[in-house]
Amino acid sequence: EPIAQMIADRVVDVPDFPKPGIVFKDLTPLFADGEAFRTVIDDIVARYAGEFDAVVGIEARGFVLAAAVAYASGTGVVPIRKAGKLPRVAHAVSYALEYGEATLEVSEGAFKPGERVLVVDDVLATGGTAVATLDLVERAGGVVAGLVVLMELGFLDGRSRLPGREVHALMTV
Ligand code: 5GP
Repeated sequence: EPIAQMIADRVVDVPDFPKPGIVFKDLTPLFADGEAFRTVIDDIVARYAGEFDAVVGIEARGFVLAAAVAYASGTGVVPIRKAGKLPRVAHAVSYALEYGEATLEVSEGAFKPGERVLVVDDVLATGGTAVATLDLVERAGGVVAGLVVLMELGFLDGRSRLPGREVHALMTV
């Protein structure tokens, strides 16, 4: 079974979550399927083999993926968290949401200078989260090796906000 189909078969569309008019892609059934989860992790590890020294996960579903990628590749995992969660914040980046603003943070000493960092998340939507995260990685001294997501919502065109970046989606809708 092609990997894009494997993901598509395990996504649940949830209308009006978290707000009216938004159809949320719930990927937790994919995470819960051991064979499918291993397949997507192995695909990411193989695609970027030898190209990264650390893995960043974006809170919170990105943590699940990043930890597995890091374990399988023998690298470390670094969390990028929502405001107020990390005890030793080195850098913070705020970005606009549809309504309001969000802030992401990275810890002191998160990366060795020049460390190659693979960033992992479940979904690329408008791209705001990804832009802020890549900015944080670079402010913290890392070099972005790539951004990989399980699913890209192509109709929101987040990719256009990431010019010159290596962006890979295991599937696109
Ligand atoms: P963006 O900043 O690209 O608009 O939104 C991406 C971030 O919000 C990611 O961290 C992702 O986990 C979450 N997100 C946005 N829309 C969805 C969705 O439909 N499904 C899931 N699982 N996450 C979403």
